[in-house]
Amino acid sequence: MNCERVNEVLFLFVDNEMEEELIDPFRDHTEVCPYCSRRVNYTRRFLLLVRQCCGRRSAPEGLRLRILSSMPHRKAAERYH
Ligand SMILES: [Zn+2]
Repeated sequence: MNCERVNEVLFLFVDNEMEEELIDPFRDHTEVCPYCSRRVNYTRRFLLLVRQCCGRRSAPEGLRLRILSSMPHRKAAERYH
């Protein structure tokens, strides 16, 4: 799995909705990629906050996009490949 793929399935992982066969590759990548592991932590905290505030199970799509676009640019992670 690479950073781009992690980015696509990040919310599924944090939401515990990830397909079984994706979990290991996802974990393998986030263990070695500081950028993605930070992103997972950030997203987890964010979703927790959203649930506490809004009582929603997951973040509205518009909010997800805003959060994702406010994260550090992916270029920062390219050296980890
Ligand atoms: Zn990565």
